[in-house]
Amino acid sequence: MNNILTEASACLQCKNSRCRQACPIHTNIPEMIRKLRNHEVMDAAQMLFENNPLSIVCSLVCDHEKQCEGACVRGIKGDPVAISDIEQYISNSCFERIQLSMEPENGMRAAVIGAGPAGLTIAVALRQKGYKVTVFEVREKIGGIMRYGIPEYRLPRSILDRYYKKLKALGIQFRPNMAIGGAVSIQDLLDDGYSSVFIGTGAWKPRRLNIPGETFGNVQYAVNYLNNPDVYDLGENVAVIGAGNAAMDAARTAIRKGSRNVTVYVRSNSATASDEEVEYAKIDGVQFVFNKAPVRITDEGVVLADTQKDENGKTVMIEGTENFVKVDTVLVAISQVPQTRLVTRDPDLQLNERGNLKIDDLGSTTMPGVFASGDVVTGAKTVVHAVALSRQIAEEMDRYMKGQAGTAKSSASE
Ligand SMILES: Cc1cc2nc3c(=O)[nH]c(=O)nc-3n(C[C@H](O)[C@H](O)[C@H](O)COP(=O)(O)OP(=O)(O)OC[C@H]3O[C@@H](n4cnc5c(N)ncnc54)[C@H](O)[C@@H]3O)c2cc1C
Repeated sequence: MNNILTEASACLQCKNSRCRQACPIHTNIPEMIRKLRNHEVMDAAQMLFENNPLSIVCSLVCDHEKQCEGACVRGIKGDPVAISDIEQYISNSCFERIQLSMEPENGMRAAVIGAGPAGLTIAVALRQKGYKVTVFEVREKIGGIMRYGIPEYRLPRSILDRYYKKLKALGIQFRPNMAIGGAVSIQDLLDDGYSSVFIGTGAWKPRRLNIPGETFGNVQYAVNYLNNPDVYDLGENVAVIGAGNAAMDAARTAIRKGSRNVTVYVRSNSATASDEEVEYAKIDGVQFVFNKAPVRITDEGVVLADTQKDENGKTVMIEGTENFVKVDTVLVAISQVPQTRLVTRDPDLQLNERGNLKIDDLGSTTMPGVFASGDVVTGAKTVVHAVALSRQIAEEMDRYMKGQAGTAKSSASE
């Protein structure tokens, strides 16, 4: 606690707060700190939650070095204010006591597909606006990648269980183990009286390396492995291909589960994961080798080639530099793209040229009454980006549903 107060007292309360501007969801950081200093911690928590219902999660998993803390004026000459620790303290200690403002029930139903950051944000926002909200989730529990991707040591599952309780108490209904696009389609939901449907199904299909041997038994995709690492036996020596969030999580988890030599091979000369994540991976004992690209996988390991930048700045392999590395498992972590189940089942939905669900500026898909946000429309991004976009889309869904209800009323009275 002392530490939190010391950190809070270091804040300069900048008028033109760079920390707030650098936050993708523009959390009012100076105000949060001012309220804490004034002992108005519940007000601070309320403000945080109303702005970002996943504030507790974001305080743990956002890339603070590149966002709020990276922009802190204090950081120019010394250490930035530990904004994430302050946010964590406030949002975590007050979470159960936060009372959300609720509009009266309006009699309309909204369906939310997917209980990840995008779906949960929409569910809370629409419930607050008086809609009867049902969330359909293909997995057993809520959280999406927060539960089935980000490891427990970075994001305790108990936080997501607390969310479940809170959201249930708000009156949000959940249907777990229920894939939309299987027995039930989006059209079925609309036909059954939902005024609007939201798609927040994320990006779960591993991006492929497209090299020979990728289907062999010694290859695993990181996003699948992280789903439930305990059912895998990776062996002593592991090569991780990729250098983003998922790659760091897979490498660090492999070490924790007993693999001894875990090496991350990076195509370029730097990792895309946050500096902090890379640092922690190194502390955990993960090795990094830069400027290496996989060429093919064999039953005994992986063949890698050196890379360099060409005259256009593109990373290319250098011919004749192929080298075999003996490993027990190759973990592929080069991002994910959306699954196509919903699009196959409801052909009115269209994908864009990158394979993401197509939406317009208002978050509307190509199917009337159906909206979407999060990774399924942006491709693999971050929790805070999914929340920020979903907040906007919730406003659009509200406008749409009220507009439809108004039209129905006026045509009934004609
Ligand atoms: C390993 C890993 C680590 C990451 N680490 C970080 C990090 O540290 N910080 C950060 O900010 N971001 C991180 N990210 C990215 C972040 O988790 C995602 O950007 C975010 O979860 C996207 O939210 P979403 O709601 O769009 O999708 P998701 O979290 O993917 O949630 C989608 C939900 O929809 C459900 N679903 C899918 N299809 C259906 C269907 N047909 N019917 C019903 N339900 C369905 C899924 O089961 C899932 O629960 C990480 C990603 C990965 C893969």
